[in-house]
Amino acid sequence: MIKALMLDFGGVYFNDGYHRFISEIAKKHSIPRKKVVKIILDEFVYGTGFVIGTASEEEALTEAFKKLEITEDWRKWHKTILKWYTPRKKLINYAKELRKNIKICMLSDQTQYIIELEEKYRFFKNFDLSIISTQVGVAKPNSKIFNLALHLLEIKPNEVVFVDDNPVNVNAAKKMGIHAFLVGDFERNNFQEFKKLNNSL
Ligand SMILES: [Mg+2]
Repeated sequence: MIKALMLDFGGVYFNDGYHRFISEIAKKHSIPRKKVVKIILDEFVYGTGFVIGTASEEEALTEAFKKLEITEDWRKWHKTILKWYTPRKKLINYAKELRKNIKICMLSDQTQYIIELEEKYRFFKNFDLSIISTQVGVAKPNSKIFNLALHLLEIKPNEVVFVDDNPVNVNAAKKMGIHAFLVGDFERNNFQEFKKLNNSL
């Protein structure tokens, strides 16, 4: 029986402003997007520990921009990035409906952006549990963050459905026995796969 739905935030619950930021930087400075992803996300947002709260955005982005040989000030992007995080209404409404019967949990690699977004949109009230990487000091795809969620929800891996837009995270969850979907697969045909799973267990 499915007892909980666990949702990523950026790219699932909201459109991902940081991914848009990376695309815009790549376009503006004519740098291949892959290279920008590697340097901004892999090396600095994750590599320095910004996403688990052990480094600041100042440290991460200043160094990332230096390495990309971009001379503009990254600080001017902050507000724009926030603006690009927008609610994905269909999924949000479906999660609200499901919450009558199962728990809804957020499992997100996020920084202070989510706190600023909460002030504007007030979405934490829609979750029974919210686990944010900067607050717990560990990020996906580390199994520790999934285990923490399972522990706090008091459920087994096969009792939860996890949705993310990053295949690495989906595969990590699958390896632990969690029912995991890429967001596009989850939403396809009006959440058909999830509905099937939910009925058959
Ligand atoms: Mg995401």
